[in-house]
Amino acid sequence: MRTKYQILKNIYGYTTFRGSQESVIDHTLEGGNSLVVMPTGAGKSLCYQIPAQILEGVGLVISPLIALMEDQVQALRGVGVKAAFLNSTLSPEEEVAVQRDASERRLDLLFVAPERLATGSFQSFLETCKLSLIAVDEAHCVSQWGHDFRPDYLSLKSVFERYPTTPKLALTATADEATQWDICERLGIRQARIFQDGYDRPNIHYSIVPRENGRKQLMDFLQGHREQSGIIYCSTRKKVDELADWLCRQGWEALSYHAGVPFEERRERQTQFNLSNRIMVATLAFGMGVDKPDVRFVVHMEMPASVEAYYQETGRAGRDGLRAEAFMLWGLGELGLHSKRIRESELPDWVRRLKWQKLNSLVGLCETLRCRRQVLLEYFESGPFPVCLNCDTCEEKAEQWDASEAARKALSAVFRTGQRFGVTYLSKLLRGVSTPRMESLGHHNLPTFGVGRELSKREWASVFRQLVAHGFLRLDVSGFGGLRFTQESSPLLKGEVTLHLRRERPGPKKRQSSSAPVEELQKDEFEVWEILRNERLSLAREHSVPAYMICHDSTLLSLLRVWPEDKEELATVHGFGEAKIEKFGDRFLAVLRRIDHPDWAVQKSAS
Ligand code: ADP
Ligand code: ZN
Repeated sequence: MRTKYQILKNIYGYTTFRGSQESVIDHTLEGGNSLVVMPTGAGKSLCYQIPAQILEGVGLVISPLIALMEDQVQALRGVGVKAAFLNSTLSPEEEVAVQRDASERRLDLLFVAPERLATGSFQSFLETCKLSLIAVDEAHCVSQWGHDFRPDYLSLKSVFERYPTTPKLALTATADEATQWDICERLGIRQARIFQDGYDRPNIHYSIVPRENGRKQLMDFLQGHREQSGIIYCSTRKKVDELADWLCRQGWEALSYHAGVPFEERRERQTQFNLSNRIMVATLAFGMGVDKPDVRFVVHMEMPASVEAYYQETGRAGRDGLRAEAFMLWGLGELGLHSKRIRESELPDWVRRLKWQKLNSLVGLCETLRCRRQVLLEYFESGPFPVCLNCDTCEEKAEQWDASEAARKALSAVFRTGQRFGVTYLSKLLRGVSTPRMESLGHHNLPTFGVGRELSKREWASVFRQLVAHGFLRLDVSGFGGLRFTQESSPLLKGEVTLHLRRERPGPKKRQSSSAPVEELQKDEFEVWEILRNERLSLAREHSVPAYMICHDSTLLSLLRVWPEDKEELATVHGFGEAKIEKFGDRFLAVLRRIDHPDWAVQKSAS
């Protein structure tokens, strides 16, 4: 029997376990149940893949997205693991063949979609198998408190109950304490051991700015990311289509993805995205299947509904551990829509309260003057955490100004116009810009008319946004952006409190652009990097797989630094296991032999 270390080295080509991987594997091998909370890219899949290769029988993996499943299976087979999937894309004959392989113990891992579980035929098929373990990926989908509830997941509990002695794993990237408890409860594994690795994704740089001219801000950001792949999230299908069109007209290779695109076409686009460095403009529908390790940036054109959703979505960047960026634009518009959705939902009061809290925490993150990473991490677990020096607020301390006087003017404008108007109207009023509508309502005669000429339109927008974010105003229920008073408003209006607000910056600092994900590559290193990348691309084309299935950027980097001369040395390169050495080793070695040994490589191999 192979040990976990042998599998780690020979199959995956890694030398050490990360975080709590090893403890989870041991706990599973001993028959225990686990809830595994690890950030995206930490390596959750090894936690069940390795025990499934050691224990007798087939490991059943419940995975919510077909594309993800197929990718995983393809990658596993590529390194010599006996894996298969069952989902709606298989023909009846193929399905029978997979089921037979499973019952006759020719499989170590079987991936299935959650909607299968409840069916009688699937259950009788399971009876014919010996299960080594059951793993539930994206386990937060079972909880209504999480951000992505899926009713299909509720049938998991009864499956779990039928296999009381089989070790079980529930895995997720983001679940606060309440959600963790809820997951265990709903899966019926209350005694599960919780493994929680820190949430930090140190390689992701965070920046959040108020949206002014969204497209221009996006363009400035993208200039630093030519030739890289990234995801841009928009809130609606229409916005997705429009933005993708616009980007293509600007000369970017952008694809679009949302639930309105026919299924086959969606898969096709996902494949194209995986195969090359393109931009995917998408709604939330593009999410859990995103397993591409070299997504270099995630942009939010609007604010999502909670910190968890934000963290999950930004977490799709930089799974390979190399430098990546999360950039979000936000405004009162979507805050109004999220609020409206919560108010109008038919959820019980306490769930709505929870959703409010979640939304407010996200606004807090947008408005913070502190390190973004500290605020993010504190949301999930108790600190203290050091400042990160890798986020916008760390890089450039936000300036504050005494906005008490401006805030009083703003509140007075809201009050005198009857608490029904939005930011655009109010800021015109304050700056003394009259419109026919204003005149017909007589608002141009109000004492507040024109008292705020010292601030620009943009500055007033910032004042109102921060007043809402800090609870001095709230958005009207109608969802049209009208502003109303809260309990906090009147002390501020009466001058009983002073208020300091942040001075806004228009966008993120420009960052260096290059196809290399690491800044520290020297010029001659960069040339070799490009040669290795091209070789990987040729191999990918020859095998019709995405480049990352050949190897990750981190593996190329390790190749470059180790500069192996033969297969034995190649085995010390990060990410080269037996199967990869066998299949691609000669090609990479040949490429390196053709290149003159640069000085830095000579020095490295001498030391
Ligand atoms: P998650 O499911 O937690 O997002 P994955 O299981 O997809 O993460 O792993 C992310 C990446 O990290 C994968 O490319 C995987 O091969 C790699 N990885 C996992 N475990 C290790 C390890 N112990 N050492 C090096 N790389 C690892
Ligand atoms: Zn920071």
